Amino acid sequence: MKNNKTTQKRGKGNSCSFYKKCGGCQLQNMTYEEQLSFKMAKTIKHLGRFGHVEEIIGMEKPYHYRNKVQAAFGYSRGRIISGVYQSSSHNIVPVESCMIEDKKADGIIRDIRLLLPKYKLTSYNEDTGRGFLRHVLVKRGFATNEIMVVLVTGTNIFPKKEDFVRELLEKHGDITTVIWNINSSKTSLVLGEKETVLYGRGYITDILCGKRFRISAKSFYQINPVQTEKLYGKAIEFARLTGRERIFDAYCGIGTIGLVASDKAKEVIGVELNSQAVKDAKNNAKLNGTENISFYCDDAGDFMVAMAEERERVDVLFMDPPRAGSDVKFLKSAVTLAPKRIVYISCNVETQARDLSYLCKNGYRAEIIQPVDMFPHTNHVECIVSLYKK
Ligand code: SAH
Repeated sequence: MKNNKTTQKRGKGNSCSFYKKCGGCQLQNMTYEEQLSFKMAKTIKHLGRFGHVEEIIGMEKPYHYRNKVQAAFGYSRGRIISGVYQSSSHNIVPVESCMIEDKKADGIIRDIRLLLPKYKLTSYNEDTGRGFLRHVLVKRGFATNEIMVVLVTGTNIFPKKEDFVRELLEKHGDITTVIWNINSSKTSLVLGEKETVLYGRGYITDILCGKRFRISAKSFYQINPVQTEKLYGKAIEFARLTGRERIFDAYCGIGTIGLVASDKAKEVIGVELNSQAVKDAKNNAKLNGTENISFYCDDAGDFMVAMAEERERVDVLFMDPPRAGSDVKFLKSAVTLAPKRIVYISCNVETQARDLSYLCKNGYRAEIIQPVDMFPHTNHVECIVSLYKK
């Protein structure tokens, strides 16, 4: 987007000057229409054997959609830089602004970088394990405009932190919470265990599909809220709820899908491995005055096995696992529980195809296959597959 000359020359999508080095937006050399065709073809290639693939739901304005922005901090030629890791390396590509990230978040990250020298704060050096600021994570509720800033440091000393935060808030009065996270281990994970709230409540809230959600630093929350409303809307429509169902929301995160579906169901059970997300989910039930939902912190597979052993009744199963997909333990118990419908949402059509093979060999048939473009300009495809029991 920054590099207009290139854009004009190519006459294609909005290429940015970091295209090659960053590697985040793999499809930038295509127009948005071409990207959607590419994703359709990818979905058909992996899932077409299970049934007809519906037209992909694209985004009207496919820019600056990311509500969560992460920047790594380091040095280049003696100067502090912030940006993204060059694809498959740990070299930081300095990025000032990005066409898919929230502009507000980019501005905050830039100002944090500019503030560091004044406070004699350094950035982290991955090779020596020394230095102060390692990452900055910004999350913004697009509907509420609540903003969380997480300062991830390599050390457990933060001199003049009150002054630093005060000055940051003077520049960005709309920040609603600032969290200090310490990550001193050699790891590619961004966040460490220890967290201290320096300002505000330590979480933000956002509104999605008419419900309010509390989001912590470590909890998963869909990064494209505009498309998430469409994704959840379709997933719940495909479940054909009548109000009598017992729903199981597996890999539920902060409880979003289950809570949105809860108005149309008798009862909802959610399971999630991340304890901070489960805490958020329980709070979200209270926040929305929802009484027919309960959340459990457990491995989805183990929980499913226990449910199957207890011969629990489940009418509709929503499952939204991470990129690696589900596991046989989970799928086997899903088949034993035999819900009428399974609505499988996935951000990885390859692992989804593998799991669908299992389900389709064991009594299920795909009814609707609906791709949704959650990540414009990247090669990631999100897809909902609704299955019914034969
Ligand atoms: N449905 C939610 C979250 C989807 S992301 C939403 O739409 O926001 C996948 C979630 O699965 C993450 O929250 C992750 O913490 C969780 N997860 C990963 N492995 C898991 C497992 N083995 N058991 C249960 N949850 C798991």
